[in-house]
Amino acid sequence: MKELTNNTHQVNPCMITLARETRGLTQSDLANMLSITQGKLSKIESGFLQVSDEDLVSISNVLKYPKHFFFQDDPIYGPGVSELFHRKRQAISTKLLKKNHAIVQLRHMQISRLLKSVDIGSINIKPQDIDEPGAPTPEEVARMTRAMWNLPNGPINNMVEVIENAGGIVIPYDLDTNKIDAMSRWIPGSPPLFFINTRMPMDRIRFTLGHELGHVIMHTTPNSDMESQADAFAAEFLMPSKDIRTSLDNLTLEKLASLKRLWKVSMAALIYRAKELNKITENQARYLYMQMARLGYKTREPESLEPPKEQPQLFYDLAKVHLEDLGYTDTELSILLSLNEDEFKGIYKHSTRRLAVVR
Ligand SMILES: [Zn+2]
Repeated sequence: MKELTNNTHQVNPCMITLARETRGLTQSDLANMLSITQGKLSKIESGFLQVSDEDLVSISNVLKYPKHFFFQDDPIYGPGVSELFHRKRQAISTKLLKKNHAIVQLRHMQISRLLKSVDIGSINIKPQDIDEPGAPTPEEVARMTRAMWNLPNGPINNMVEVIENAGGIVIPYDLDTNKIDAMSRWIPGSPPLFFINTRMPMDRIRFTLGHELGHVIMHTTPNSDMESQADAFAAEFLMPSKDIRTSLDNLTLEKLASLKRLWKVSMAALIYRAKELNKITENQARYLYMQMARLGYKTREPESLEPPKEQPQLFYDLAKVHLEDLGYTDTELSILLSLNEDEFKGIYKHSTRRLAVVR
């Protein structure tokens, strides 16, 4: 792999836009940083103006991507269904939304490149149309999915592992906001990607993975109920009604705490589930939520009840296989991914080892 250092190929203007957006910059932000007019940058990004070598050097320095990044010609896809219709989208700035979409896009490009040499097995996730008359409900789809994956009754021990076993890739990522829990993206021909916000507590990550899994399975085309359908899928997937129903009698905060330890879902989700299954009334639910709010559990439930961390493996294995089995160096792999080496290491290298040798 050789580094392209001159314009023998054409710079792909779309890559300048993508790079800029992954850094959370508007066109005018970047034009200022480059000390050029926004008009000039706009024409460069639209392909009306050729990028001079000098401009390319400054763009590469300011955006912190190697020069060959801008020569990539991978296809760029629009935002996926769950990204477009996310439940809290309204509260998020366009800039941040664009940044997250761009990062999803870029990560998909990089992962596709890594998957040329790594076999992660077949994808056992089946899209299910739920709009047709007589189609299954989201709850039925959740039960069918559990059955197809041979999951035992009762709680899901490790949600990340369940998704990885089915061929989904879970990617930990700081989304730079608390307003988005996760994003998913399934481009035909690639495994579905689940981006989970590392700012979220584990109980919420687990539920949100269920929600995104629901989107991936049920929503190849969007509909106006998709948020509540994805929640219904997640609730039944993590807390199947036939398994949890009898445990939801006489709910108190103490009981919710012990149920949380067992089911690894938030106390709030358990209260909601109890109400959905008619085990408590609207008033009882409100009373329990109020008690939780008084203890400050509304913003964060007690740390002692936090489910054990579920560490994604597949995503990190993609780089590991290249480094350990295919003989790539960090430098070569960062060139393959068109990233500066430090950034490559920060994103793709993760040591599951926590202990070091005492010397
Ligand atoms: Zn959603």
